[in-house]
Order: sequence, then structure tokens, then C-alpha cells
Amino acid sequence: MAVWVEVDLCSGCKRCLKACPYGAVEMREGKAFIMERCTSCGACLEVCKEKALLTDVKPREIPDFSDRKGVWVLAEQRGGELHRVSLELLGKAQELACVLKQEVSALLLGDNVSGLCDTLIEHGADWVYLAEDRALKDYRTNGYTKVIEDLVKKHKPNMLLMGATHIGRDLAPRVSRRVEVGLTADCTELSIDPQGGVLLQTRPAFGGNVMATIANRYSRPQMATVRPGVMEVVAKPGHKGKVVRHSISLKEEDIGTRILELVKEKKKKVNLSEAKVVVAGGRGVGNAKGFAILEDLAAIFGGEVAGTRVAVEEGWIPPERQVGQTGQSVRPELYIACGISGAIQHRAGMMNSRYVIAINKDPRAPIFQVADWGLVADVYEAVPEMIEQLKQTKG
Ligand SMILES: Cc1cc2nc3c(=O)[nH]c(=O)nc-3n(C[C@H](O)[C@H](O)[C@H](O)COP(=O)(O)OP(=O)(O)OC[C@H]3O[C@@H](n4cnc5c(N)ncnc54)[C@H](O)[C@@H]3O)c2cc1C
Repeated sequence: MAVWVEVDLCSGCKRCLKACPYGAVEMREGKAFIMERCTSCGACLEVCKEKALLTDVKPREIPDFSDRKGVWVLAEQRGGELHRVSLELLGKAQELACVLKQEVSALLLGDNVSGLCDTLIEHGADWVYLAEDRALKDYRTNGYTKVIEDLVKKHKPNMLLMGATHIGRDLAPRVSRRVEVGLTADCTELSIDPQGGVLLQTRPAFGGNVMATIANRYSRPQMATVRPGVMEVVAKPGHKGKVVRHSISLKEEDIGTRILELVKEKKKKVNLSEAKVVVAGGRGVGNAKGFAILEDLAAIFGGEVAGTRVAVEEGWIPPERQVGQTGQSVRPELYIACGISGAIQHRAGMMNSRYVIAINKDPRAPIFQVADWGLVADVYEAVPEMIEQLKQTKG
């Protein structure tokens, strides 16, 4: 199987050269030449106006997915408490389902958790698939995987979304393997391709240096995980939905693990994803003492202090306060970035902020590209001045 050039037809326009993602086309004596490293992906064929490129590779057929309906969200709960990311995903699911004219479903697994169904319905679920069993009381990989696998095979959803939490990151790959589909982890944006109606899943790639959009055209359900704090909760008060009980028969030996004891990590609770105001600092703050000034500013708004990876690595703030690709995602009303350059990995965690104020000495700092207001200033002059002015205004 291969791609070859009909030399007489080739005009030497070089379009194929630019289109080839593998650098497998070169020009020889003014004509396109296909090199050995060609993977027969077909990208060059699509751009060749002269039809000078030919292949014997049959285009992959897209299966008929007309029976695949619905946008599903895993409603993650621990100890009977819903994780906020589940409501955020239901908000996004409403938007996706509306474009496709399909319905939104929530999957709720646990023991004695039926009381959560109303909350899910009031946040957009048209259906709640409820699996209750003592064996599902606490999350265990094999048990949850089996139940979701059964539900997916029975009801054939179009999409399945999970939070990129500890549970979601463990469960989603297992489920995707069982139902033989791909998975896009840690998405920061989901939308529908207006042409084919497929899910466009955007996430940072190559160490966060590019945002890649991934589409799965060949299998269903389309599976993605999304980090907490990225999507918006959209309440739908008065919305009506139905609960479908899914009966299960799980044996302890099917699950394979036993929980002997649950030990909660003792750490100060930081809820950056729900903070209305986040004051974040970077290398430009210079030291831990500088963060005390940011805390004063955050306190005026009742907000939280956060920072870049540099601030964490320097030990100025604890890791749970890191914002970005490998930290938390936030979506406050106001994000004040102090002495932060605005690297793409940092922006990945704060780009959903409603308003951004950036303070940086360097007028060319990339953070100004995403800021609504920019102050080209020294943090140590600008922040105390802001605190002073705010105190006076408040007073
Ligand atoms: C795979 C990967 C994942 C990553 N994940 C994350 C992540 O989750 N979060 C994250 O933040 N980073 C992450 N990074 C690191 C990221 O690439 C940047 O290195 C980091 O965000 C830079 O932090 P910074 O803005 O504090 O420092 P710098 O880039 O050094 O910027 C400091 C800024 O402060 C300004 N400044 C200096 N002094 C002052 C002053 N007195 N007053 C005002 N401004 C001043 C400077 O002009 C400069 O713009 C990741 C990197 C990789 C490769």
C-alpha cells in the first residue's frame, strides 16, 4: 500500500510538501517525490488540485452511529457528596446536547445516593442512571468499571464525560479500554464540529506548548475527562428528569480489592476552583514575604492566594495553590496576576477567569495578551497602592 506521483500531472506547486505532516514529500527536478517515510495518511492527496497523487489505500469508513445518542456525565460522589466537577460537566453537557438535539444523562453509582438525583436533574440531567449497591459505597476501580461498562453497552451513549479527578483519572482509561474506544484526558474545552457533529476535544499537548484538538470519528462513545474548575455550572431550576434504576449483581471477588480503612489526608482545605477572586503571584514577587502582601490584597476581596509553578518550586506557596496545566484550574470573577510572565502552562489554568488584571514590569510579558487591564509596574509599588486605595474605598 502506498502513495505515488503521476509525474506528468504534477505541476510542482509544492502544496503536498506543506501538507505532509511527516516531511515525506520533497521536490525532485520540479516534481513531487514521495519518500520512504510516507505513512499513506492521505494529507497530500487532499490538497493536490491536479490529482497527480494517487494511492491504493482505501479511505477508512466511518461506521453508522445513528443509534448512538446522548451526552453522559459521570456524577462523581464521595460519601454521598457530589463532586462539583460533575455539575460543571452537566453544564457543558447541556450545551453539547442542545447542538446535537440529544439528551443529557448522569450516571450515579454508590450506596444510598438516590437523594442526589434531584440535584443532577436540576443541573440539566434529563435522565439519571442510578446504580445503588453496598459494593459501590466507596469507589473501587473494578466494580465501578464493570457497572459503567454494562450501562454503556446497554444504552449506547454518544459521549461519556468524567471529571479529571483522582477517581476519573483512574476510571476513565479502564472504561475506555473495556468499551474499546479512545479517551482524551484533561480537556480544557469541548465543542461540537458543526460539519460532522463529532466532539472536538481540546487539551494542552507537547508539554503545554500547543493546544491540540482531538476528534474521534471512528468509535463511540466519545470519551473525555475535564479538570475541575474549567467548565461552568449551569443550574436548571424546575427541570424535569427521570431516574432509571440499573440493577447490578456484583460479587466481592469481581471487585478484587477490599477497603480496610479510609484515611483522609490532613491538609488545609484550599478551594481555588470556587474562589471569586484569586490573587496569584509568580517569580516577580521574589520571595515568600512578598506573598504576604498578596494575601492582604486577597483578604480585602475575601479571595484566595495562588501562584505559578515557579512560586511553588521556590517554596513560597504550597503545591495545592498552583494554577496551571499541572496545578489547579480556576474561573474566578477576578484574577490578579502579579509578577507572572503568562506562560501557556500557567494560562491553561486561569484562562476562564472573567476579568484579569496583570501587573508586570515588562510591557512585553505575554500575560498582557490575556489581561483586561494591565499595569506595567513593580509589584511592590502597585500592590500596596491598590490595597491602600481599596481600603479607602471600602472605608
Ligand atoms: C509540562 C509543564 C507543565 C507546567 N505546568 C505549569 C503550571 O501548572 N503552572 C505554572 O504556572 N507553570 C507551569 N509550568 C511552568 C511554565 O512554563 C513557566 O515556567 C512558569 O509559569 C513561569 O512562572 P512565572 O511567570 O512565575 O515566572 P517567569 O516566567 O520567570 O516570569 C516572571 C515575571 O515577573 C516579572 N517581574 C519580575 N520582577 C517583577 C516585579 N518586581 N514586579 C512586576 N513584575 C516583575 C517579569 O517581567 C516576568 O514576566 C509548566 C511547565 C511545563 C514544561
